[in-house]
Amino acid sequence: MRIAVIGAGIGGLVAAAGLQSDGHEVTVFEQRQKPSPDGAGLTLFSNAFEALDLLGLGDVVRSISSGAIASMRSGQRHPSGSWLITVPQSAVASMRSVHRVELHRALTGQLQAGTLRTGSVALVASDGSPHVTVNARTEHFDLVVVADGIRSRNRVSLGLDAGLHYAGYTAWRGVTSRPVDIHGEAGETWGRGQLFGIVPLPDDHVYWFGTLTTAAGTVFRDEYKAVQRQFDQWHDPIQECITATQPDAVMRHDIYDLAKPLPSFVRGRAVLLGDAAHAMTPNLGQGAGQGIEDAATLALLLRNAGINELDSVLARYSDLRRKRTSTIQQRSRMAGRVAQAANPLAVGLRNAALRLTPGKVMGALSQRIHAWPKRRELDPLFRTPELRR
Ligand SMILES: Cc1cc2nc3c(=O)[nH]c(=O)nc-3n(C[C@H](O)[C@H](O)[C@H](O)COP(=O)(O)OP(=O)(O)OC[C@H]3O[C@@H](n4cnc5c(N)ncnc54)[C@H](O)[C@@H]3O)c2cc1C
Repeated sequence: MRIAVIGAGIGGLVAAAGLQSDGHEVTVFEQRQKPSPDGAGLTLFSNAFEALDLLGLGDVVRSISSGAIASMRSGQRHPSGSWLITVPQSAVASMRSVHRVELHRALTGQLQAGTLRTGSVALVASDGSPHVTVNARTEHFDLVVVADGIRSRNRVSLGLDAGLHYAGYTAWRGVTSRPVDIHGEAGETWGRGQLFGIVPLPDDHVYWFGTLTTAAGTVFRDEYKAVQRQFDQWHDPIQECITATQPDAVMRHDIYDLAKPLPSFVRGRAVLLGDAAHAMTPNLGQGAGQGIEDAATLALLLRNAGINELDSVLARYSDLRRKRTSTIQQRSRMAGRVAQAANPLAVGLRNAALRLTPGKVMGALSQRIHAWPKRRELDPLFRTPELRR
């Protein structure tokens, strides 16, 4: 099949690499001029790796990521540094962290030469016909994968938009430019309307994020000083993580998710994937992971289908992925509300509840999110009993 992918983010690149390795003729349109965006870190869990493995990409991503957190103490801390809860190592055993730039580079490297066309703002036909217009020139495909991110113009023009919802907080992110000793301790520290996360990356570099409950569009004169000031009374090595990061490498984004789950991920021969379909808050670390699951689901469904079966395959994709992602989207939003609580009474109750919750209960909750029941969902759809690995 001739397939266009609009957007070379993580979702679009994984889909493109998977579809291309299955023999489809794939073109990726990316509006950026350069192949990789700037970026901080990213955590991926077992579900993302199951999906990557189904597409033959798991080892590529393992080779550039760190699994160090599995042998560290992790969970939630109080700004003083005392632990509110620690999760059993089994809960983070499958978690790996990667620098986004490395991930983009590795995924782009999986594509055949000439697949990725940068500097190409692409628009699919608004009636869902598989035609893509780039620079006033229209090209024809059998299928168009719309992976153009949370602010997807194509989702809007396809009539599938539900608007965005501000989650109530903003997030700074950075990666240290030198190794930082985090003393074998990682995870999140929860304050009042503030949160700080520490995640080990390869070579003892650290990916960190800091959030603040504030109005959308809040302006800080100096982002670097602002993030330092927000966390200046917090436990070590939070300040060290920030000061070990180049000021111009600190980025900040107000956090949005989709206002509500979309009624469908498909219009005609255009199919939404990744944040374009189900942008969620980062509180469960599942946004990219769900885009990767989308990519594997779509590629697997297409693997045994002819062009005449495309409509039923796309309907099945939409059904499977809407169910899975809308649940995670809601839980992520809820987790964000709890983590970002600013009211002192609510924070006191939350912290007391965390202290009383056995770590294994928290671990079991997160493992339920990471479990992707892909076999149960996908097996009946295949004519051949074995999924290709
Ligand atoms: C603070 C924060 C922390 C996060 N942490 C995690 C985490 O730890 N783990 C996790 O799994 N997820 C995390 N996420 C979510 C994750 O970053 C996203 O879910 C993921 O990057 C979305 O990938 P995507 O490919 O769908 O979209 P994007 O990465 O947004 O890519 C879309 C691409 O489409 C391009 N594009 C847009 N319009 C057009 C057009 N018309 N034509 C051509 N190209 C176009 C854009 O330039 C872009 O390259 C986090 C998000 C935030 C904000």
